[in-house]
Amino acid sequence: MEELYIGSHVSFQRNEQLLGSVVEALSYGANTFMFYTGAPQNTARASIDLELTSLAHKLMKENNIDIQKVVVHAPYIINLANDNDKYEFAIRFLKEEIARVEMLGVELLVLHPGSHVGLGSEKGLENIIQALNIVIDSKTNVKICLETMAGKGSECGKTFEEIALILKGMNYPDKVGVCLDTCHIHDAGYSLQNLEDLLTQFDNIIGLSKLWVLHINDSKNEKGSHKDRHENFGIGNIGFENLMNIIKHPKLKGIPKILETPYVSMADNLKEKIYPPYKFEIEMIKNRKWNHNLIEDIRNYYKKD
Ligand code: FE
Ligand code: FE
Ligand code: ZN
Repeated sequence: MEELYIGSHVSFQRNEQLLGSVVEALSYGANTFMFYTGAPQNTARASIDLELTSLAHKLMKENNIDIQKVVVHAPYIINLANDNDKYEFAIRFLKEEIARVEMLGVELLVLHPGSHVGLGSEKGLENIIQALNIVIDSKTNVKICLETMAGKGSECGKTFEEIALILKGMNYPDKVGVCLDTCHIHDAGYSLQNLEDLLTQFDNIIGLSKLWVLHINDSKNEKGSHKDRHENFGIGNIGFENLMNIIKHPKLKGIPKILETPYVSMADNLKEKIYPPYKFEIEMIKNRKWNHNLIEDIRNYYKKD
């Protein structure tokens, strides 16, 4: 699997910024990663430190991390589907976020299309198209990747058709693509049992050339549940084999694959602590062999400190 780009969500902290993110990704044995430029649930953002950024770039080069495979996730409170009083703020924030991502030298920006909150899907999709066409101009270098959603609440982008409709409305179609999240499409009702059929369907409706990022997560719930609760790799309703098939598929080679599986909890002196599963999940993926003791191994590893 020479061309496997595998990584996970990592943190991006105010004092270490991108350099800290790279160090964390390397500690998991990853060769790519994804981060939020601040807390995902709010829009408070520190300005980008150029010195930390250049140190991060140097460390990436030394460790064969291709920055073109690195991903930023826009905060999920940006909602472009509802043109209420926060619509203009969301548009402005996304513009600023794109500038931050460009300063970091990153190219891929994952974005949740948004929730229409009662306006109806049609109006929601219209609002998303309008907002993106305001945000993206001829000078935009970042590639926006619209994430496929589980269909929780009034989320737009829960079908390939809805994503395709947004893409069709773009003034700069080359600057917008897709992030496919395995947990989300499973929860939205797509089967991952037959990957060939799924990829054919994606290709017919959206086009495989538009698939720029993959979020690799198992799901805690049944297919079609519209819940969006991620599970650790191989122990949910999608399962090890179906997830591995995506990771190994020749047509998906070269696409960064990002784990957003949940942290593992452990009682420690009567306090509940949580630990990242990524080092062990990445190891399991590279071995291509199911680790029955995944959760135990994670707990044992972090018990030491
Ligand atoms: Fe997401
Ligand atoms: Fe995701
Ligand atoms: Zn999710």
